[in-house]
Amino acid sequence: MSTAPRSLPPGIEPISSDEARRLIRCTTEPELAVLMGRARAVRQAVHGNQVSLCGITNARSGDCAEDCAFCSQSARFEGTGAPVYAMREPREIADHARAAEAAGAREFSVVTSGTRLAREADLRRLEEALRLVAEESTVMRCASLGLMRKPELARLKAAGLQSFHHNLESARSHFGNVCSTHTFDEQLETVRAAKELGLNLCCGGILGMGETPEQRVELAETLREVDPDCVPLNFLDPRPGTPLAGLHAITAEECLAAIAVFRLMMPAAHLFAMGGREVNLGDRQHLVFAAGADGTMVGNYLTSAGTAPSEVVAMIRAQGLEPRPTAEPERWAFHGEAPAGEARWNRSAAAGDRRALPVLP
Ligand code: SF4
Repeated sequence: MSTAPRSLPPGIEPISSDEARRLIRCTTEPELAVLMGRARAVRQAVHGNQVSLCGITNARSGDCAEDCAFCSQSARFEGTGAPVYAMREPREIADHARAAEAAGAREFSVVTSGTRLAREADLRRLEEALRLVAEESTVMRCASLGLMRKPELARLKAAGLQSFHHNLESARSHFGNVCSTHTFDEQLETVRAAKELGLNLCCGGILGMGETPEQRVELAETLREVDPDCVPLNFLDPRPGTPLAGLHAITAEECLAAIAVFRLMMPAAHLFAMGGREVNLGDRQHLVFAAGADGTMVGNYLTSAGTAPSEVVAMIRAQGLEPRPTAEPERWAFHGEAPAGEARWNRSAAAGDRRALPVLP
């Protein structure tokens, strides 16, 4: 992902937390339209009309000792259907990177389940994979590895890691309702270690996990203290078998107001509308850009299906925007298969009668 611009155009300043707490409640017309118009103008002034696309691959899946209530990869929850496999071999990871590059990725992100990547064998595997990826492709090398400490991150940086992703998941005041096996402060230590090492930092959260609108602002306040280059905003797609499986969706208007407020609080950051946009926003997901997002994800999520690149690109162009160019135009990351048609829109269409998205093999 790109580094965020370090200076803002004249006249653009982050809004205060007090203003954010007022605006996050603007979910009815015409306030929402005014809020989105303001956020869209900021996005346009700072980031132009380009939208970044990224993709991910799951290098180690399932069997996690943590209890994040939204996550199908926790070993504590039964019947999630998430695939379980150990860390992939370096050759396999490098092959995935080359495949992602061939599909057009400008960044390749290695994601692993589990508390952290600390076993010596896994670290060596990833170091070797990073070297192979650097030798064999031009993609930016990113990883999302759980709670990492500085020495291990420094080793990975020396092996070629360029960018690090870690979501804070939710506001500090709500985090204990979502996870009891690690702390909010451990997460902050992880992202600060990555920042201190000079890695490009991608750090965001998940909305719709039972938090209040004010707690969404609280999350954004913490994020802007951390000062990430990219802020991925996810929207809960309740996974079968997890404690949050039955949670009611937040409305599309709440999603859009949150995107707009995050944009106004962090004008310089690249703001990505990520997982769950399909099921929470349905046929209004194109409005994430009008609300201020300048990035999104193509292809599949870790354990659920996403949207094919061609559909995402068509949606972006229909908004008068353009995908941010890759080394080779018209190519974007994509891993696995995405369902066609209405299958992915079940949640917003009928909250009381929803079906789970297919879990990918
Ligand atoms: S989010 Fe990460 S740490 Fe939490 S249960 Fe899932 S894989 Fe484990």
